[in-house]
Amino acid sequence: MALLKILEPGQTIAPQQRRIALGIDLGTTNSLAATVRDGRAEVLQAPEGGVLLPSAVYYGADGLLTGRQALARLGDSPQNTLQSFKRMMGRGREDVAHSGYRLAKSEGGMLRFDTAAGEISPVQASAEILKALAAQGVETLGAELDGVVITVPAYFDDAQRQATKDAATLAGLKVLRLLNEPTAAAVAYGLDSGQEGVVAVYDLGGGTFDISILRLHRGVFEVMASGGDSALGGDDLDRAIVDWSVSELGLDEVSDTQYLLALAAARRVKESLSEQHQAGLEIFGQALSLSREQLEKLIQPLVKRSLRSCRRALRDAGVSSAQVEQVVLVGGSTRVPLVRAAVAEFFGREPLFSIDPDTVVAVGAAIQADVLVGNKPDQELLLLDVIPLSLGLETMGGLVERIISRNTTIPVAKSQEFTTYQDGQTAMAIHVLQGERELSADCRSLARFELRGIPPMVAGAARIQVTFQVDADGLLGVTAREQATGVQSSITIKPSYGLAEDEIASMLKASWEHAGKDLQARQLAEQRVSGQQLLQSLQNAIGADAGLLNADELQKLQAAMAELGNLLNVCEDSAALKGAIEALGRHSEAFAARRMDATISRALTGVSIDELDAGKVGES
Ligand code: ADP
Ligand code: MG
Repeated sequence: MALLKILEPGQTIAPQQRRIALGIDLGTTNSLAATVRDGRAEVLQAPEGGVLLPSAVYYGADGLLTGRQALARLGDSPQNTLQSFKRMMGRGREDVAHSGYRLAKSEGGMLRFDTAAGEISPVQASAEILKALAAQGVETLGAELDGVVITVPAYFDDAQRQATKDAATLAGLKVLRLLNEPTAAAVAYGLDSGQEGVVAVYDLGGGTFDISILRLHRGVFEVMASGGDSALGGDDLDRAIVDWSVSELGLDEVSDTQYLLALAAARRVKESLSEQHQAGLEIFGQALSLSREQLEKLIQPLVKRSLRSCRRALRDAGVSSAQVEQVVLVGGSTRVPLVRAAVAEFFGREPLFSIDPDTVVAVGAAIQADVLVGNKPDQELLLLDVIPLSLGLETMGGLVERIISRNTTIPVAKSQEFTTYQDGQTAMAIHVLQGERELSADCRSLARFELRGIPPMVAGAARIQVTFQVDADGLLGVTAREQATGVQSSITIKPSYGLAEDEIASMLKASWEHAGKDLQARQLAEQRVSGQQLLQSLQNAIGADAGLLNADELQKLQAAMAELGNLLNVCEDSAALKGAIEALGRHSEAFAARRMDATISRALTGVSIDELDAGKVGES
């Protein structure tokens, strides 16, 4: 089944019309681009040598620099040398606790760095990296680019994906598709044309760890689960070495600058210990020597932490480690022998490591870009991702009705019918929520909009279909449609800022911890809603047919209603409320029966019920 149409029917491409596309790995620490030429993926050389462009931009009063040139200014101009801005893409000020940078107090809550060249957003800084890589591509390939595929972490939410697209637009690039980093890595190994099965992608970079469980099914990748740790990476290994040095040298206090310089030295010794068994280390002006065994002891706890994330991701995906058929290693830190050994032991198989873990994501993106730009019209490749947290709507009583569950593969569209709560209700508020908790107050609010123009009907008669649609890039659109008249209203969700992976993790954790409490809260809220509904309908009935009750009966019924009304406000016990609601229901049964009889006899005598009702209301 061709799910992804690349060309219009009948359209073909002559060989000379071959289109130019890049795959771009826009990393936290390093970025790079790759392309497919003569059927082979090749990584572009960075202008400064090597293939990695450090994801750093210098915004000084004297101009703009990217990559290694920008890093060279870190010493004399740290506040103007931006790094790690990928972590702040699509995020608000309040999302970022400590960036180390001076932040501008801008409106709208979006985060901006305060630099000598003005206020700079993470999107702008990313755009500079993209521009530098695109320029490299144009120079290497001698032609303008037709499009790019940019990779993003599997856990990136709507806002972070949108911010990445915005950066590409700002750089003047056409985005063919955003692609999840682990999926790109699996494509680079050609796993998409291999055996069906489960693939784990273990990505340990500079500052983040990502684990993704993918499933290949009929040539299509589906992300079954993604997880990780946004504060675990090579930088932590460097810090472990520095901390060890501090205690080894018996230092009491080190300045920030000393610490920064020590980190650079630690990084060098760490990288050489991936090849050698012993290495010297010039740190804090003194000489130390570190063995691979010592290093392994220092970093063991960090490696174990990554394995815990792996275990959690497997559980989320509902598979055991034995069911994983291939393990792919991504990220510079997987060069550490202990990391490789630990991953091999955990999954019980040798991981794939033949493609440079620094470039494997860009290579996969380039292969995908080549297909998407139209160079391989006969190839069908649809890569599926999952949504990280459930999406739903707020319903009466502040409850959440889940429409799309977390870890559902995208693209996806799901609909559910809702109805009105009050008689004659002509508008409905739609509140879109993200999260796993039962109460809307505990979930994250993504958007609110209204459906207006619902024809007035009795409560519960209107049929409003709400459709949630998440496109292939992970962007959410919500549409509400009244079925009888076809009036509809919709919204595309671009939240002003997103969630970090650790926030997702903490929301999930909260949902597990509060599962019992949430269930009680939900039951209580449900009883409150049904109690209110009963009171409202009895009120309407009394308004219409009070004459069917004698004074004593009316007074008793109203007293019982007042009692329930009071109980609904104060009682926290859903079972007790349920009992009270049922009791009032029984109490009012005779009244309901009399109303039914009256309606029938009115109909038989041919008198309009409306006339009678109007008269009754007037009397009472
Ligand atoms: P990101 O995905 O965050 O941009 P990378 O995948 O480029 O990061 O990984 C950068 C990290 O890899 C750094 O911490 C670096 O020290 C580490 N690294 C690179 N080469 C080696 C090596 N040979 N041995 C150990 N760590 C390495
Ligand atoms: Mg990376």
